[in-house]
Amino acid sequence: MLNKFLLGSSLALMVFSLFVRWRGIYWIAIAFLAYAYFRMFSKNYSKRYAENQAFIKHTVKIRGFIGTQKNMMRQRKTHHIYKCPNCRQKIRIPRGKGKIAVRCPKCSTEFVKRS
Ligand SMILES: [Zn+2]
Repeated sequence: MLNKFLLGSSLALMVFSLFVRWRGIYWIAIAFLAYAYFRMFSKNYSKRYAENQAFIKHTVKIRGFIGTQKNMMRQRKTHHIYKCPNCRQKIRIPRGKGKIAVRCPKCSTEFVKRS
């Protein structure tokens, strides 16, 4: 988990360093990469495992946020997300059904939307 993050971000930083004049980014990318390799070849498994667990623990919120965003992006292809005009409740409507009447599950207001 931690290694995937290290490799991914060092790659992203390297690409990023191509567009920025500040060379420091490039060296940060190298440092990330070196650390990832060090972890890969390290024999101290329990210490590496502990580091990984700490990483997972510290990033649980941010990874949850990214997961939600990805989910929303995926749903946007098949669903529309509308807000109830009365109570602001978010309502998911499948696409491609034409004009439909939507009933809010929270306050049961009905409104017509194009899906
Ligand atoms: Zn409502």
